[in-house]
Parts: sequence; structure tokens; C-alpha cells
Amino acid sequence: MSNCIFCKIINRQLPAVTVFEDDKVMAFMDIYPLRRGHVLLIPKLHQQQMHHLPAEYREHLVNTASRVAQALYACSLKPAAVHYMVNDGPAAQQTVPHVHMHVLPRYPGDSINFLARLLRKPFDLAMGPENSLMLETLAADIRQELEKS
Ligand code: 5GP
Ligand code: ZN
Repeated sequence: MSNCIFCKIINRQLPAVTVFEDDKVMAFMDIYPLRRGHVLLIPKLHQQQMHHLPAEYREHLVNTASRVAQALYACSLKPAAVHYMVNDGPAAQQTVPHVHMHVLPRYPGDSINFLARLLRKPFDLAMGPENSLMLETLAADIRQELEKS
């Protein structure tokens, strides 16, 4: 879809710090990360909600998210846990109308910082995106682990 930012990322019309890509899925760093190592996965097909996707795309999205989570556990970030999260429609706070799954690392004792970061989320545009060098460094680490799996 021509005015969708995630389609533009797929078509290289907008930049992204990618950790994985094949014919059906793309995984890249969230530019307004809620925690360090926050990764987004998108199907290479414009659909707004999970149930609109062909099963093969949905299954591949979930399987790739699980591989990304494994890479996060194995890389230098060492999260204690991850959220696999899909805001599946505008009423569920979906802000980009192209299916995406968040793989969001959590760290020991980070609940207060996580909540504070969530509250700041509406002001992300004003605060500006995460430093791209920082995202590149994290992505290289995650990519290296994904190449092993
Ligand atoms: P949602 O709130 O729709 O579940 O998640 C959308 C996510 O996309 C947010 O976490 C937001 O930070 C991220 N995001 C929005 N625009 C861009 C962008 O241009 N590039 C990247 N990498 N992430 C984006
Ligand atoms: Zn799209």
C-alpha cells in the first residue's frame, strides 16, 4: 500500500535497521524502543490484522519472532523475558495499519522504567528516534545470533 510506512520500509523507500529478511517477513529495530533490543516483525504483504493474513505468512511471522527472541536471549543483551505483542487493530492501540509483531525484551527489575517508557510513548515523535548507531550496534549483535539458528 503506497502510503503505509511499513510497506515503504519493505520497498526500501524508508530506511530501517534490519536484523532478518526473507521472501515473507522482515525484522527490524523499533526506532522508538520501549526497551533495549525492541524488534518489530512485519509480513511482506500489506494486511492490517492477523486474521487477514494467509496462514503461511502468519505462521512464518510467529516462527521468525520466536527465532528473534532466541537470538535476543543469546546475544549480549541477556533479557530475563520477552513480550510477543500484536496490537491488532486501531482500538487495540495499533498505530501502523500493517500487521506487526513486537518482540520486546524485559530486564530484571525494569518494571518502573518500562511503565515510565510506556507513558512517554505518545510523546515519541517530539522526543525523536533512538540513535541509529546504537540501533546498528544492537542489530549486529542480534543478526550474528540469528545467523547461527
Ligand atoms: P503499534 O503501536 O502500532 O503496535 O507499534 C508501532 C511501532 O512502530 C511503534 O513501536 C513505533 O515505535 C514503531 N515505528 C513507528 N514508525 C517507525 C519507523 O519509521 N521505523 C521503525 N523502525 N519503527 C517505527
Ligand atoms: Zn503496509
